[in-house]
Parts: sequence; C-alpha cells; structure tokens
Amino acid sequence: MRSAPESANVSAGPRPFIRAQTDLQLAAWLNAAGESSYRASQILDWVHKKKAETPHVCTNLPASLRKKLASDFDWTSPSVEIECGSLDGTKKLLLRLRDDRLVETVLIPASPALYGAPSDRLTLCVSTQVGCAYGCRFCASGLMGFTRNLDAGEIVGQVEIARRLAGRRVDNIVFMGMGEPLANYDNLLRATRILNEPWGLGIGARHMTISTSGLAPRIRELAAEPLQIRLAVSLHGATDEVRERIMPVNRRYPISELMDACHEFRARRKQAITFEFILIEGLNDSIEQAELLARLAGPLQAKVNLIPYNTVEGLPWRRPAVPVLKTFLNILKTRGIPATLRLEKGHDIEAACGQLRLKKEMHRGNDKQSAL
Ligand code: SAH
Ligand code: SF4
Repeated sequence: MRSAPESANVSAGPRPFIRAQTDLQLAAWLNAAGESSYRASQILDWVHKKKAETPHVCTNLPASLRKKLASDFDWTSPSVEIECGSLDGTKKLLLRLRDDRLVETVLIPASPALYGAPSDRLTLCVSTQVGCAYGCRFCASGLMGFTRNLDAGEIVGQVEIARRLAGRRVDNIVFMGMGEPLANYDNLLRATRILNEPWGLGIGARHMTISTSGLAPRIRELAAEPLQIRLAVSLHGATDEVRERIMPVNRRYPISELMDACHEFRARRKQAITFEFILIEGLNDSIEQAELLARLAGPLQAKVNLIPYNTVEGLPWRRPAVPVLKTFLNILKTRGIPATLRLEKGHDIEAACGQLRLKKEMHRGNDKQSAL
C-alpha cells in the first residue's frame, strides 16, 4: 500500500499548497521551523474552518510564524474563470489553476432548485487531472489528451471554492470530473483524507465516491485502504467486444479482470459498487447488452446508473430514444438489479465531463489561428 509522504517538500519546485498539508506534515514543518507543533491545529482551523486565504489574517499566530507560512506555502485556491448556472440549480465552474491550466467543477443540488434557492444537500463533482490519458471515445476530457495530475491542494481547493461560492458546506463529493482519479492515486488519497478529517473539511468517507474507468490493480489497492470511500465503475459495455470499441483501457484490463477486482473490493466493503453505463444509440443499448449487464451486476450486488449519452461536439455518438432507454432499464429491474435512469443535471450548461474546458480551449485555438 502506498501512502502520501508525511513531510512537506518546501525546498524544490513551486511552494506546496497549504490545503495539501496533513496535521502531521504541518507539525513536522513547525518543528523544523523551530515553532511549537501545537500550532498545527490553529493553522488547520484557519485554513479549513475559517477559510483563510492568507496567513496574514491568522491573528492568534505570531507575526514571525505568519511570515514563514506565507513564504513556505501557497495559500491560493483555483480561481473562477467562468461560472454558469443551469435552470435545475446545477452550477458549473471552469477553474484556472496556478499554471493557467483549466479544470471543471460542478455543483449539483440534491433537489431541483431554481438558481439561488436553498436545497437540502449539495454534491460536488471534482476533477483529479488536467485532461485524461485514457481516451474514451465518447468523452470530451479524453479528446484533449493528458496534461498533468492535480495536486492534492488543487483537489481540496475545488471544494473550498465551491463552498465559498455556495455559502454552505458541501455534503457529497464525486470524483467524476475531468481525469482518471485512480491514475492520480497518491494525490487523490491525500485529498480524500484532508476532506474527511475532523481537522479538515469533515466530509464522511461514505459521502465520497471515486469513479474509475476500471484500473483493476488500483481498485484492489483502494480496497485495502482504511477510508470507506464508495466506488463507481464506468462500465459502458457488458462484453469486451463492445467495451473495447469505446474504452481503450479495456484492452489492458478486460471485463473478467475488472470484475475480479470489483469482487475483491466488495468483499471488503459494506456498500454496494455502482456501475455507470452510458447508453449510446446502436452501440451498447441492445437487449442482449442489458441482459449481460444484469449478469455482471447480480453476483456483485452492484447498482446500475444508466446515463443517456450527453452529446459532445465533434463526436459521432447519439443518445437512444426514450423507449429504448426505458426497455433497457426494465430488463435490469426485472432481473432484480437496482437500476436508475439518470436524467443528468446541467445538460443545458454542458456539465458532462470536460465539455466546458473543451469549448474554451477550442476558442483559444481559434483565437490563435485568427491572430496568425
Ligand atoms: N475517469 C473516470 C471519472 C471521470 S468521467 C471515469 O471514467 O469513470 C465521469 C463519468 O462521466 C464517467 O462515467 C464517464 O463515462 C462519464 N462521461 C464522460 N463523457 C460523457 C458523456 N459525453 N455523456 C455522459 N457521460 C459521460
Ligand atoms: Fe478519462 Fe473517464 Fe473520460 Fe474515459 S471517461 S477519457 S477515463 S475522464
């Protein structure tokens, strides 16, 4: 099992993010700086509870320590480049990172609420990478290729920005934004810990879901972690033949290997795994696929989330007609599989994975062309 290093590297490269520091790391840094380690909890309180954006506001810390905190750590969070609201209350943010890269974060209220109206629960869909190396044929993030992993501080920073904007706590986190979370394993795990700890954001592990395209060895690794985070597997095909057409990762980890890893995960957890299944017209929406999907989900007691394909500009796929979606759903239900047809939120603001960034980058490309 890998674990995040417990000391902040403050000597090389850009300054580490204060939001990526654990209590032990901060204590080690304080010791090295000749300060008392009890200050760690005061600093974390300022960062996560009082939402300080600079150490200069931390009035119970000595001025000399505030100075060191400013010079050794980056206190910034990503900045909001574009904010769009959807009529159903979903809000999508395009965020700018410190190296000017862009990622997306989506705020999803639980109950349909008009813009600005209160809702009971707030779910946040966060990104874990800039772009994605896995190249799924239906996905806007995959289209643009991989740029880099997000730092744990940038993952936590997305939650920070969202709760500031929403003016309330974030209840659920889904790692379903841009990127493959399990390909950025150490940063992901460190971020989940900071999000979970009482000295951090205090979000229960059961209120966090990691979505993966099916990195089997990493699923096994995750199964051995103490935090009881939920798992969603993007299946999108019930046979290798169909899955391979849209998900190159299936050649590396075919369905049988992926299912073995899911069974291992399931054996160690109380909560059910969720299979995500995008329905694409003429590709994976047949009765046969529905029946085979039920055979995969049944023994695992997995839940199935059916998602009508969200059109991406430049890609050839289409969503099936509503009766086809309903037939698919009913086949699963009659075979005893807990299944839902997700009427995705935020369709009108292009909330599906990577689409807003794709547009923005395309505009950038156009600007460049026209400037030549
Ligand atoms: N890389 C991870 C998590 C990010 S993608 C994964 O693949 O699971 C999050 C979810 O968005 C996945 O289930 C993915 O298949 C889905 N998705 C991507 N493009 C989509 C589209 N155009 N329409 C609907 N869902 C899409
Ligand atoms: Fe990457 Fe997930 Fe998109 Fe596939 S669906 S390209 S794994 S972000």
